[in-house]
Amino acid sequence: QPSGSSKLSKPSFSKQDLQHYEESDFSWSKEVQAKLCSVFQLSKFRPLQRAAINLSMSGKDLFLVMPTGRGKSLCYQLPALCSNGFTLVIAPLVSLMEDQLMYLKSVNVPAVTLNASSTKEDSKRILAGMIDKNSPFKLLYVTPEKIAKSKLLMSKLEKAYNMGLLARIAVDEVHCCSQWGHDFRPDYKLLGILKRQLPKVPLVGLTATATSNVLKDCQKILCVQEPVTLTAPFNRPNLYYEVRFKDNEDCTDQIAQLIRERYKNQSGIVYVFSQKDAEVVATDLQKRNILAQPYHANMEPSDKSQVHQQWASKKIQVVVATVAFGMGIDKADVRFVIHHTISKSIENYYQESGRAGRDDGSADCIVFFGFGDIFRISTMVVMENTGQQKLQNMVAYCQNVDRCRRAMMAIHFDEVWNDEECNQMCDVCRHGNDYITMDITKYARDVVTIVEAASSVDEKLTPLKVCDAWLGKGPAKHRKMIKVTSLSRLEVESIIIHLLLHGYFSEDFSFTPYTTHFYLKLGRKAALLKNSNHSITMKMRRRVMSHTTVKKVSESPVEKSSAKVQGKRPADDKKSVAKKVKTLP
Ligand code: ADP
Ligand code: MG
Ligand code: ZN
Repeated sequence: QPSGSSKLSKPSFSKQDLQHYEESDFSWSKEVQAKLCSVFQLSKFRPLQRAAINLSMSGKDLFLVMPTGRGKSLCYQLPALCSNGFTLVIAPLVSLMEDQLMYLKSVNVPAVTLNASSTKEDSKRILAGMIDKNSPFKLLYVTPEKIAKSKLLMSKLEKAYNMGLLARIAVDEVHCCSQWGHDFRPDYKLLGILKRQLPKVPLVGLTATATSNVLKDCQKILCVQEPVTLTAPFNRPNLYYEVRFKDNEDCTDQIAQLIRERYKNQSGIVYVFSQKDAEVVATDLQKRNILAQPYHANMEPSDKSQVHQQWASKKIQVVVATVAFGMGIDKADVRFVIHHTISKSIENYYQESGRAGRDDGSADCIVFFGFGDIFRISTMVVMENTGQQKLQNMVAYCQNVDRCRRAMMAIHFDEVWNDEECNQMCDVCRHGNDYITMDITKYARDVVTIVEAASSVDEKLTPLKVCDAWLGKGPAKHRKMIKVTSLSRLEVESIIIHLLLHGYFSEDFSFTPYTTHFYLKLGRKAALLKNSNHSITMKMRRRVMSHTTVKKVSESPVEKSSAKVQGKRPADDKKSVAKKVKTLP
């Protein structure tokens, strides 16, 4: 984790301060209100927008954390219109900038972009416009690479700064600065140059998902001294969260049934792991008479926008998509987001599932949790520094049986949380206590023995092979030492996942020119099993247990802490507040 120690002084931003910025009249208030209606055609602000705008207009540096789709852009677009000069906006994707430019054009706000595909003439005109007192544009969108690579741009920024024409800097998707965020982009790391060279320009960083550690990291990287952080309530009370086991590797039938019955005539998204899966699952759904189309990064831009259009206008019901289908989606009545494969992190999951129910109507977010998928994702994120840890958090979210799903997410995002707020809107709260606590020590010894025996003859086993061996399938040599288990496959998988999450197993990657293999090896805690006093308990859903005779597992009373999924329970006395203000040390 990034070090928490920081020499920066602690700004204190209280509830009263927030109220001040939400409610007071400022010299710009009339103009801001008028342009909200006349230019943006909006009748009123959403929570935190007014405070964010007033803070930024007051010259404060600001981090704004708000779920996707709540209207972060307005918080720099409106100030841009009410200030002299122009606002510099850094955004990660050219496609995102183009969406915004199109929108701004439609409401007659002059905005331009400088990126790798700008023509010479455009660049020249824009660079000249930056230092033109008549400000031919109010917003200038650039990619971070442009800042990093173009000395010419930097010199013009300095000049505009000295002329008082650089009103504000907005860093969109600011979590991209930090490698602890879910979408690290190396060029964002270099953006500290802006505050170092242009210290008096107020900066606003915007993101939908960032833990306080990530924000601290962004603050350091951007060289922002004392930002105010505004965090919109992250809870989405209208979303129902559920995790289902994939009992055989294919859950398409279940998904098709849900779409045909529960979500009849309603729009939704099915997220899948790969481009190939997008094609395959879309075809499988079509065969089951569902209007579905695939969407992935490798499609022609025109095909992509056609699928998007058809879906937005309800000509098709479902988009079967990779994560490429995300930024820029602005459909309010998405009634379901089903994950055919788990996400690679909780941040990703929150963002992807969060595309449901933006109209505040109820919507379902269902993950299909499959054993094999864990390892597919694991090898995919093998190059990312924090990839395995993030995946493990996501797996723990799915494996969890006794903690509210919202609480799991709240803990992950460092949110204060009070369990009642879920309001039975997750499977755990709704079917609480549908689990038993089992002593799995004996099972753990058996399955560890399988891996140990293989490694003693220099053989590596994939998780699937370990399951097979334990269940009495595959080559007999792998189970010489142990008895074939009478547990079901789902139980076997659950136990292996538990042992992996808790350090009895760990991942052992092996690279070939074409693919990366995931093998199981003994983890740092495996040796503890040699100790006859050591015991391991885990909580398992009863539904998983249904295939076998439950007498094989002892229902042992365990002390509360032993099998708890990672994360601390937030103090019960702390209640989450509707509008929360966080300040960064
Ligand atoms: P974000 O960047 O937070 O994901 P956007 O800035 O792209 O969200 O805005 C999402 C949508 O919300 C846009 O269609 C925008 O017009 C709309 N929006 C923003 N502010 C308001 C408001 N105060 N009232 C109604 N709609 C709004
Ligand atoms: Mg945005
Ligand atoms: Zn709950």
